[in-house]
Amino acid sequence: MPRGRIEIIEEYCKGCQLCVKFCPKDCIEISTDKINPNGYLLPIFVSEDECTGCGICGWMCPECTIDVYRYIEN
Ligand code: SF4
Ligand code: SF4
Repeated sequence: MPRGRIEIIEEYCKGCQLCVKFCPKDCIEISTDKINPNGYLLPIFVSEDECTGCGICGWMCPECTIDVYRYIEN
């Protein structure tokens, strides 16, 4: 059961890969062929099942271009 998800606002990403390096669940990978208009390789959210919604990727992103959502359990 997914506990969180992220959305990356691709146009502001600068491809630094900090989100990739710091995600404790390895939910984000850098693309090998997907680039934004500024020419940066984009990160891809690859593992929604593992995401906890911890927010670390969002805190680490120097461009504040990751929105993090955490699901509330009933
Ligand atoms: S919210 Fe946490 S688990 Fe989910 S992608 Fe970001 S760093 Fe990884
Ligand atoms: S940390 Fe932010 S700017 Fe860096 S690759 Fe991830 S989304 Fe892009």
